[in-house]
Amino acid sequence: MELYRPHMKSQLQDSKTWDVCIIGGGATGLGIAVEAANSGLSTLLIERGDFAQGTSSRSTKLVHGGVRYLEQRKISLVREALQERDRMLHNAPHEVTDQAFIIPATTYWKLAYYGLGLLLYDLLAGRRRWGRTTILSKSKVHTLLPRLKGKGIVGGLQYLDGKFDDVGLALALAKTAAKKGAVLLNHAKVTGFQKKKGRIQSASIQDGLHGDAITIRAKAFVNATGPFSDALCRLDNPRHKNRLKPSQGVHLTFDADVLPGDKAVLIPKTSDGRVVFAVPWHGKVLIGTTDTAVDQPEEEPRPLAQEVDFVLDHANRHLGLNLGRKDIRSMFAGLRPLIKGRIDKTAALSRSHQIKTSKSGLTSVRGGKWTTYRKMAEDTLKHLKKKTKLRFEPASTQDMVLEAQNEFDRAVLPENESELTQAVLQAHRKEMCITVEDFLSRRRRILYLDARKAMAAAPIVARALASAQGRGEEWIENQINLFTKKALSHLP
Ligand SMILES: Cc1cc2nc3c(=O)[nH]c(=O)nc-3n(C[C@H](O)[C@H](O)[C@H](O)COP(=O)(O)OP(=O)(O)OC[C@H]3O[C@@H](n4cnc5c(N)ncnc54)[C@H](O)[C@@H]3O)c2cc1C
Repeated sequence: MELYRPHMKSQLQDSKTWDVCIIGGGATGLGIAVEAANSGLSTLLIERGDFAQGTSSRSTKLVHGGVRYLEQRKISLVREALQERDRMLHNAPHEVTDQAFIIPATTYWKLAYYGLGLLLYDLLAGRRRWGRTTILSKSKVHTLLPRLKGKGIVGGLQYLDGKFDDVGLALALAKTAAKKGAVLLNHAKVTGFQKKKGRIQSASIQDGLHGDAITIRAKAFVNATGPFSDALCRLDNPRHKNRLKPSQGVHLTFDADVLPGDKAVLIPKTSDGRVVFAVPWHGKVLIGTTDTAVDQPEEEPRPLAQEVDFVLDHANRHLGLNLGRKDIRSMFAGLRPLIKGRIDKTAALSRSHQIKTSKSGLTSVRGGKWTTYRKMAEDTLKHLKKKTKLRFEPASTQDMVLEAQNEFDRAVLPENESELTQAVLQAHRKEMCITVEDFLSRRRRILYLDARKAMAAAPIVARALASAQGRGEEWIENQINLFTKKALSHLP
């Protein structure tokens, strides 16, 4: 089935009982939708906003094992993620590419320390290794990163990891799930559950577009709401205690010339004991991230002034730059759905995942990383087989190639009005693009690359979407206002 919303909506009949209803259309939920549909289960996914609107569009864009987790001795997490990194490259070659990273070192001791870490990283990848880490002389580091001149560098290391467009992959997963028979509905929110003898029988859905309420019956309900997992659990059990400790991470986007060449950089030691990345992405450079504990997750998290200062300060200090707020083309914040632990510091909390089913039958999938989305989905299906009455044989997705992307570049906005209108109409028809933000943030990544450019395109996009959906002037004006407000929040 094509990703066309009216078709998807027409599949929701009150009388049908689905095998699985997945709540949340980020990396976790979409991965589970592919896995479940591939195993022959009738599968429905409900997303309150747009696909990947939450954390899954706000990552560092790395497909990686996580070099820094080696220092925390999370060996099995790194090994698992490295296996998945390789699978992602093979299964979604249109979205994932390899990327060379440089770690500059300021002492020989550090050079040896990072070198040993990367040797272990390569070893953990086993036969799925992507080339060997190389040691770089001081002059080679300066050639590759010319702005670092005079920064006390003694040498460096170059290793390979992966890079992707997180939303591109999310949409490829949505298309793959739909092709396997899953029904997916964005802009629809789960607002409550109905129970019989203490077990969840159905969920109430509010359609965000038309305002109607729908009741969905399913044999299994999966909570894949990322940082909002605890809030959804409270719809099931008002006495539910928080299992997550979300943490905010911020990225700033700059023009490509702040990092000449095609290498990414890993700054190995920030003032709060983490790493910062500078990554060439879609013709710009992303620098981040931060790790700020959050008490109450918000749907639209915003970078804090001190987080912006932190990223600017580290970029300037370690990359030989002189960046200020005026150089920021866009900025964005995401919430890590971290599982609570004994440690308070969010940077030290585990990035592994956890799957648990409540007494009433709500299965919550918590934690994890984009890179491990497929493994999380595989584990969820195994869990459902054990914990529910669903009878099925899980079919492997290990080597399943995902639906290829369209023949356009998500970083490019057509310059002329009629081409832009066509692009919007196509996104509406084939990728369930409903709002101006859906288009300028996610069908194309313009808001993340250059917020001012995105703002300028909003009126044409709004008119095209209004014509596709039979909306009038009031809707157009409202969409432009909403998007302008949103785009301004991406600027300092
Ligand atoms: C700053 C940052 C950088 C990161 N960088 C990387 C990286 O480089 N590589 C990597 O592998 N991982 C990275 N991660 C981790 C990765 O992005 C996340 O683990 C992953 O995206 C989480 O996906 P999710 O589907 O669980 O959550 P989300 O993407 O947040 O999806 C949850 C969805 O549930 C929806 N929802 C909530 N409530 C309801 C409801 N009631 N009804 C319907 N829908 C609902 C939300 O709208 C949302 O779309 C990063 C995370 C952060 C924060």
